[in-house]
Amino acid sequence: MSSTSPPPSYSPRRPPPPYEEQNSRNAKKECSMSEHNYKVSPPPFVPLSGPSTIDVDQLQVVLTTANTQPTTVVIVQEAKPAPTFASYETFCPTCQKPIHTLPKYVNGALTWIVFILVLILFFPLAFAPFCLESCKDAHHYCARCNTLIGIKKRIF
Ligand SMILES: [Zn+2]
Repeated sequence: MSSTSPPPSYSPRRPPPPYEEQNSRNAKKECSMSEHNYKVSPPPFVPLSGPSTIDVDQLQVVLTTANTQPTTVVIVQEAKPAPTFASYETFCPTCQKPIHTLPKYVNGALTWIVFILVLILFFPLAFAPFCLESCKDAHHYCARCNTLIGIKKRIF
């Protein structure tokens, strides 16, 4: 007799599963609804993705042009050879005026070659090439703005 009573007690507990099933069904319906919503939304996103890629290309083009211009300027400044070791008159691209260059003598390839030769032959005078302007390259700077105008090398 007591065994029959438990089933009724269990039976009221059974109804909740149906609610869960209903909830799950509702959730499935919501998912299906949301899927439908997502299926509808992609079409407007496709045309948006096209213009966005074009914008990226334009940005890349702008970046490449911006990077190219400064490099060319630097190359022009470094590759300009000077006609002589002494000061000479030339046109400064920065001042936009004719100026006299200010030569500064720096150690070049000939300086180190003479240094090694003197070091082998008579090492006490090995420092001499670093004191002689005739062994050094001449870097010509603008006397007004101190811009490097040209370089005159002894050898390569
Ligand atoms: Zn200048």
